[in-house]
Amino acid sequence: MWGTPPLKDRYDVVIVGAGVHGLSTAYYLAQKGITNIAVLDRSYIGGGGSARSTAIIRSNYLTAEAIPFFRESHKLYEGLGQELSYNLLFNQMGRLDIGHTESSVYWLRLRVEFNKLLGVDSRLIGPDEIKEMVPPIDLRVGKPLPIMAALHHPRAGVVRHDAVVWGYARGADKMGVEIHPFTEVTGITREGSRVTGVETTAGPIMADTVVSATAGWSSSISAMAGIDLPIVTYPLQACVTEPMKPFMDTIVSSADIHVYVYQTDRGELVIGGAVDQYQTYSQRSTLTMLEELAADTLELLPDLREVKIMRQWAGLCDMTPDYAPIIGKAPGLDGFILNCGWGTWGFKAAPASGQSTAELIYTGKTPALIKHFGPERFDNGTMVNERAAAIAAAIH
Ligand SMILES: Cc1cc2nc3c(=O)[nH]c(=O)nc-3n(C[C@H](O)[C@H](O)[C@H](O)COP(=O)(O)OP(=O)(O)OC[C@H]3O[C@@H](n4cnc5c(N)ncnc54)[C@H](O)[C@@H]3O)c2cc1C
Repeated sequence: MWGTPPLKDRYDVVIVGAGVHGLSTAYYLAQKGITNIAVLDRSYIGGGGSARSTAIIRSNYLTAEAIPFFRESHKLYEGLGQELSYNLLFNQMGRLDIGHTESSVYWLRLRVEFNKLLGVDSRLIGPDEIKEMVPPIDLRVGKPLPIMAALHHPRAGVVRHDAVVWGYARGADKMGVEIHPFTEVTGITREGSRVTGVETTAGPIMADTVVSATAGWSSSISAMAGIDLPIVTYPLQACVTEPMKPFMDTIVSSADIHVYVYQTDRGELVIGGAVDQYQTYSQRSTLTMLEELAADTLELLPDLREVKIMRQWAGLCDMTPDYAPIIGKAPGLDGFILNCGWGTWGFKAAPASGQSTAELIYTGKTPALIKHFGPERFDNGTMVNERAAAIAAAIH
């Protein structure tokens, strides 16, 4: 799949983090002809948030800044299996974002209108159509939080996360990029206001450009370069049930109840929700969250009460104050590029983020698609406020 070349002491570009964003950046940079690249990871390839993702791909965001970016990424995902010549098992099963209160339905309606204006397929549907699409769903008539409407996004889907990571890694490797797992970055070296390379557990490496694509660890990597990022790290948990005969072929998500569920091609139900309530770098899952996810699922699908949970896991999420990513040149530090702030929603962004970051490095200019996501927005007060990013950013 990819080679194991010896680590050199100099590269044009060093990318810290071999998750989906680091590897997609390397892949698109190599396509532009920059191939003297090392992607370093302290663990195995794609072992961070990328290995733990429930990998829902969608573009039905809320803001004029985020919708075009996620629309582009969604479009790239539709052709990505072909491009990487790798079966990504992208199943476009569609998605329902359910509203249970007048206020949620108001925001869903607003999202539908913004989506339609910006070319993303979205429509508001009522309880009868929801029941037709997901027959076992409890419409909660007469109960607290009845189902009032849903935003239907037909092109949403689920991709096989490992395959995306491996496909990018193989594609980048083929073009000459080196991937070095189990090589931890322990320091960022700089001369004045310019980054000159990294310190690693395998020795120092010089580089013209250093990219940090380290998600949940971004604030600590940036701190090594003297950059204080407005990012906090929270764990996000998910679980999967035993397999069942297929009974639902759309993703169901409820920000009011704090849960999302979909059935995989193997028949298992993947269940996720909001981030944990406390910040930590621990990737251990908890019984409390398992109970919450199970209880919340039963609010929507009560027939599942006898179903067994097979596995549960947690990954780290790099949350920004405005639920939008940070991609751009680090302020006041030449040669240091940030690609982070992907929170609980970054897997879907990898193709557009990789392409844009590659273009930024190649041309030195910020591409229009990411112009709202630079770190300077926290200084000049032009935050994005993308409240349709995730259940954790639920609009109430
Ligand atoms: C449970 C869960 C469910 C999710 N579901 C979805 C979803 O449905 N849809 C969606 O779009 N997104 C989802 N996400 C979010 C998404 O998975 C992440 O935003 C995305 O994978 C981040 O990718 P990344 O490449 O930026 O980071 P990561 O994949 O975390 O990669 C960062 C890498 O940096 C490495 N690293 C850290 N420190 C160092 C160091 N000092 N030296 C070298 N390497 C280092 C790590 O080992 C890691 O491999 C989910 C996340 C979780 C945890």
